[in-house]
Order: sequence, then C-alpha cells, then structure tokens
Amino acid sequence: MTNSGPSYYCPYKGCTKEYTSPYLIYKHSREIHNSELATPTKSTFFKSSSGKVINFKINDRNSLDPGEKILLVQKNDQTYYCPYKGCTKECGSRRTIYNHSRAVHNSELPTSNMSPRPQLFMSSSGKVIDFKSK
Ligand SMILES: [Zn+2]
Ligand SMILES: [Zn+2]
Repeated sequence: MTNSGPSYYCPYKGCTKEYTSPYLIYKHSREIHNSELATPTKSTFFKSSSGKVINFKINDRNSLDPGEKILLVQKNDQTYYCPYKGCTKECGSRRTIYNHSRAVHNSELPTSNMSPRPQLFMSSSGKVIDFKSK
C-alpha cells in the first residue's frame, strides 16, 4: 500500500470521488455538483446550507444532498484548536486551550494565570504551534 498523503472526499450523496488535493475537490464540487464552492482562505471554512461543517474528510462522505450548496464561512478569529492529532477540541480562548492541552495531553504550556497574549510555541519536533490551524 502506498501512502499518497491525505485524501479529500466529495461530501455529496452517492459520489465516491476522492482527491489528494483540496483544490481538486473544490473544482470537482463546482463542476459536477454545481456547488458554487469558493476557494477558501486561511480564515474561512466550509458549511453546508444545513449548517454542517464540511472538511472533505472521509466522515463527510454522503452528507450532502445533490444540489445542496456549500458555503464559505468566516472563521471566528477567537477560535483556538488543539494541535494534537486526533483531538478535535476547540476553544474560544488561548487560556482554555492551554488548560486543555496541559490537562489532557500533558504538555508544558503556560498556566492560566500567565498572560494570554499571543506567543509562539514549538513542538519538540520543531513544528510551530499557533493553535490557529487544526
Ligand atoms: Zn462529487
Ligand atoms: Zn486536545
């Protein structure tokens, strides 16, 4: 089995298309499903018109009726995401995400009585963690 990177799945019912690039799935969605999907920026995410968040992941498969629109929604800038794999925790403040990260993942983030002003963290593998991306 070859590992060709992450896959993006078409969320429309009955469609089994998958692509290795999000841009191909956006294009597919526009051309085949008439979804009027716009290409996202860093501060936006997708929602179906019924309010479901669409990440084009495997569990989003078969979740949209044909013709249902996918809307591009502005991310609330105050949302912070837990950077740990498999963890979907998101919080409205850095403080909460730090607390979560310490409590659940044993990380050594600042305690909640420290200033929550923006700062950068790095994982031990050298990846910058800004809590702004999943
Ligand atoms: Zn499709
Ligand atoms: Zn977490």
